[in-house]
Amino acid sequence: MTEQKYNEIDIVKIEKTKINDVDFNNIDFGRKFTDHMFYCDFVDGAWQQPKIVPYQPMTIEPSARVFHYGQAVFEGMKAYKDSNGNAFLFRPEDNHKRINISAARLAIPEFPKEYFMKGLTTLMQMDKDWIKPGAGNSLYIRPFVFAFEPAISAAPAQAYRFMIICSPAKAYYTGKVRVLFAEKYSRSADGGVGFAKAAGNYAAQFYPTSLAQKKGYQQIIWTDANTHEYLEEAGTMNIFFRINDTLITAPTSDRILDGITRKSIIQLAQDTNIAVEVRRISVVEIKEAARNGSLKEIFGTGTAAVISPISAFEHAEEVFEIPDASDSYATLFKKTLMDIQQNAAEDKHGWRYEIK
Ligand SMILES: *Cc1c(COP(=O)(O)O)cnc(C)c1O
Repeated sequence: MTEQKYNEIDIVKIEKTKINDVDFNNIDFGRKFTDHMFYCDFVDGAWQQPKIVPYQPMTIEPSARVFHYGQAVFEGMKAYKDSNGNAFLFRPEDNHKRINISAARLAIPEFPKEYFMKGLTTLMQMDKDWIKPGAGNSLYIRPFVFAFEPAISAAPAQAYRFMIICSPAKAYYTGKVRVLFAEKYSRSADGGVGFAKAAGNYAAQFYPTSLAQKKGYQQIIWTDANTHEYLEEAGTMNIFFRINDTLITAPTSDRILDGITRKSIIQLAQDTNIAVEVRRISVVEIKEAARNGSLKEIFGTGTAAVISPISAFEHAEEVFEIPDASDSYATLFKKTLMDIQQNAAEDKHGWRYEIK
């Protein structure tokens, strides 16, 4: 970690809020941004003065290394408001830890914790009106860092920009998701960057996912790159299988992202005495469980949708429908987790972080 003294943030406030231009009942996710953004540049071997300014376009040279070599990592997190108007983040220190784990893998300098937390909380205070109360409503927060230096030789940059932008998100119900188990393409490999929220990991999924979508599947469940025999994750979500009354999820590794929702669900299952196994899961095992009726549920977990139930999967041209579970774990955990996030349930593990 860069040893650095924290400087107070320079702040330029917007002249007139844009909040009245947004219809909070009809939000097209990720297209509207709040009044302000945070940024901080890394030059001459150190993070410089952190700033908050009105959200606006920025000037960047065409030779900036990020465009050529994809040296960029990001995070995704949310702020919530309870019915009394108190605002909260969920496990934000874990996002800070993770962006630095991702950064280290991409040879990007780590961002100091105090800068991250101060930048985040100051921005939240300034744009607090954009966090709407009500079940499922939230403000999506996107911290990211990219190679800013104008130089096109293939080497790590000497200059970076760290930023935080925020976009209002509505409670959304995507409907049940149909998925394809990967047989040809891979998302990640041993020794690779699958565990990092590296920008290029997502671009690499767009094409195979578009092929899956043509076949009627919204997402791909990625399998191990060597054999395609073991189920890993969904590419923006970790994945859980319920066989009889036991939940199973793959262990995190250098191929699988260590999701904060995933580890929260594991903890909640343990709190509720629901058996959880963290182990390898083979395609053969899940197909067999689907055939004999012991496969009760599959669901994805991630900050964006919290939990997405999966209603069907295809593998080797064979389609398996998963009947609705009467006592769905997906429904149970989604409610429990959202209640904790929105200050409507006890927070035994100290996951909420109040924005004061
Ligand atoms: C972000 C992400 C997840 C989910 O992580 P959360 O911390 O739960 O939001 C899962 N898999 C991948 C590849 C991701 O990028």
